[in-house]
Amino acid sequence: MEKKGIAENYDSIWKKVVNNLRLEITDETYKLWLEPAIVTGVEKDSILVKLPNKFFVRWLNEHYAERIKNILKDFSPDINVNFYTDKKDEEPEGAAGVPEAPDVSSFVARKFTSKYTFESFVVGQSNHFAHAACMAITNNPGNTYNPLFIYGGVGLGKTHLLNAIGIEITRRFPSYNIIYVTTEKFTNDMIEHLKNNRMAEFRIKYRNIDILLMDDIQFIAHKETTQGEFFHTFNTLYERRKQIVLSCDTSPKNLGELEERLRSRFQWGVVADIQPPDLEMRVAIIKKKIESEKINIPDDVLYYIASNIKNNIRTLEGAIFSVAAYASLTETNITIEKAKEYLRTIITEQDLETDVPMETIQTVVCEHFNLTSNDIKSKKRTETVALPRQIAMYLSRNLTNYSTTEIGEFFGGRDHSTVLHACNKMKNKITKDPYFTALLNKITRQIKESV
Ligand code: ADP
Ligand code: MG
Repeated sequence: MEKKGIAENYDSIWKKVVNNLRLEITDETYKLWLEPAIVTGVEKDSILVKLPNKFFVRWLNEHYAERIKNILKDFSPDINVNFYTDKKDEEPEGAAGVPEAPDVSSFVARKFTSKYTFESFVVGQSNHFAHAACMAITNNPGNTYNPLFIYGGVGLGKTHLLNAIGIEITRRFPSYNIIYVTTEKFTNDMIEHLKNNRMAEFRIKYRNIDILLMDDIQFIAHKETTQGEFFHTFNTLYERRKQIVLSCDTSPKNLGELEERLRSRFQWGVVADIQPPDLEMRVAIIKKKIESEKINIPDDVLYYIASNIKNNIRTLEGAIFSVAAYASLTETNITIEKAKEYLRTIITEQDLETDVPMETIQTVVCEHFNLTSNDIKSKKRTETVALPRQIAMYLSRNLTNYSTTEIGEFFGGRDHSTVLHACNKMKNKITKDPYFTALLNKITRQIKESV
């Protein structure tokens, strides 16, 4: 009897957690990731929450564990949540035939996010310099670039790089005392110590270290007391030749209200920016992620999603993983059509680019293959005309919302089945021929630049 009472109690705690989370996420995210979660029992001080498959366990652990812990802290500080699944993976992991214990992954308190390493970071033109500067620091902390100021838009890898520095320095200089802290946390920490008259302790904590990795320094704007305290932290570390790395969503020059003495210090060392990645790099990043997560997504779907979400890798990852989760729940294959349909519900209009006119696609493809628009619309079926035509049809299917009938109509009054055939043929080529894929990327980029 009593046991049941406890379980019910835990069930209501979980509901509270979910209700709190719901305020922060979209309805679609809630429906996809949290609705399928069921409380099945209790073990020690942990609520056991069952999920549809391993994919969900991994995702929820990675994306919500921290947040859930914080929510729990407010009303049940001694309670944990354990996600598990009893569904086996399709690909066998470990010895086949041996009954598996439930995959209970619990929260691990770690200093750094272990997957944010240099190895998992994709380098390209848009982040080349920032990456090189971060690597250089790990060779000789405090003596190369100090401070290092990295700036760039949301979701472009700043936190990833700060973590990578932390992990690499831990590896190379195990005795170093490293602090990774968000500016928000630094501020709260300071306020807490101020309130309790324990500023001396605060200063010891932040000034007797070898490396300070401070994330999202833009939040220091308008905060005078924090700026004052940070100024002294900075000076002490700098004078002792301790490494300081700062990340920010904008350049020091454009940072809002900020004491001039801090603004100038931010520029004493090296200032490195990160730009949004191009399509090829977005695809490379996503491929690396899905490989490490052992997810299978067809290339054409990857390209479709990556060509529609440009400015934020986090959003892009979210979309890819949601499509994969959706497919794993419904046990269907992932196709472009499904992805399109599904993405409409999770991506806001501004994430999706506006339609590309079919004329533009036609013009760019024609230019590329040295054809006229009459050629591409003609009845000619020689390979030199037929392939560009099929490419144009395929791109129209991916870059616009026109139906196959409308696309067929546009390209010389052809039947919708001709368009479908072209799309399938192109998809097939993409999976087999990397040169062809690169060519399509190049053309896609040109089309987007011409809009
Ligand atoms: P920021 O701190 O700039 O807002 P994050 O570092 O949190 O962005 O990155 C958002 C997501 O995108 C993370 O999952 C991160 O691993 C991924 N990401 C961003 N850039 C890269 C890259 N160049 N290579 C691999 N992953 C990346
Ligand atoms: Mg960040």
